[in-house]
Amino acid sequence: VYIGRFAPSPSGPLHFGSLIAALGSYLDAKAHKGKWLVRIEDIDPQREQKGAAALILQSLEEHHLWWDDDVLYQSRRYAAYESVLQTLIDKNLIYSCNCTRKNLATMGGIYDGRCRNQKAQGDLATLDKTQALRLRLHDSASIPAKKVVQFDDLFQGSQTQDLCTQMGDPILKRRDGLYAYSLAVVVDDSTQGITHIIRGSDLLEVTGSQLYLFDLLDQQRPRLGHLPLALDARGQKLSKQNHAKPIIATQASENLWHALVFLGQNPSDDLVKASSREIIDWGIAHWQRTAVPRNKK
Ligand code: GLU
Repeated sequence: VYIGRFAPSPSGPLHFGSLIAALGSYLDAKAHKGKWLVRIEDIDPQREQKGAAALILQSLEEHHLWWDDDVLYQSRRYAAYESVLQTLIDKNLIYSCNCTRKNLATMGGIYDGRCRNQKAQGDLATLDKTQALRLRLHDSASIPAKKVVQFDDLFQGSQTQDLCTQMGDPILKRRDGLYAYSLAVVVDDSTQGITHIIRGSDLLEVTGSQLYLFDLLDQQRPRLGHLPLALDARGQKLSKQNHAKPIIATQASENLWHALVFLGQNPSDDLVKASSREIIDWGIAHWQRTAVPRNKK
């Protein structure tokens, strides 16, 4: 079985960078006769743009990227996140933390675990809601500890991350009460039975901590593949926050053709004149993982 997914945050309409993630995950799934699910990651209302979720879905349809099953919305999944967090609390792995961003900056950006003695115990609902909840990666007694996660990325090759020195104890619930993106992603990817995560390389650095969560929750790890990132003329990542231009439906064929080129798939010049549907069919029939470019180091 193969179950893949595309998981956009609705912070703006689909732009060329997110089209690459959508197309790459779609083609990898369909070339392996898999399912392709869409999940709207609307857990952060402050970053959300009204109407963006609907626009993203419409844009996918206009580019002939049809998803299987119903769209899952993270805003309707709080109960699931809560129950997983409770499991981790019950395993004695969570502590409350009231450190600020400023505190964190003085630690060089890697949390040093200074609140570890404030163990979170009992019912999640009764804990002080103004504090963040962090996952304890190891016992302070064993510093300098190592929590090394290794995985073989489908496009970027072998990866090794040491969570202790590269990340520090991750926040799972924020001081503003919102669930952390990594918790929500891992809970949803396991609930949905995702076997392959194909997404942009901006998420490569958080992958170690997500795989670690899969392990802690006794869930099978998915395979991961991180696609290269599209950059703008100034060399910055195309993103909704940087107001990357939305892609437009009347140029669907061109958009898809350019995305195929970006993914190293080498479509013929003629193919740009074909319909979206034909371009997608060509993409499925010719998809080659080994042709996807590696990130420059
Ligand atoms: N929602 C995340 C984003 O739009 C992607 C999450 C993922 O693919 O794991 O950046």
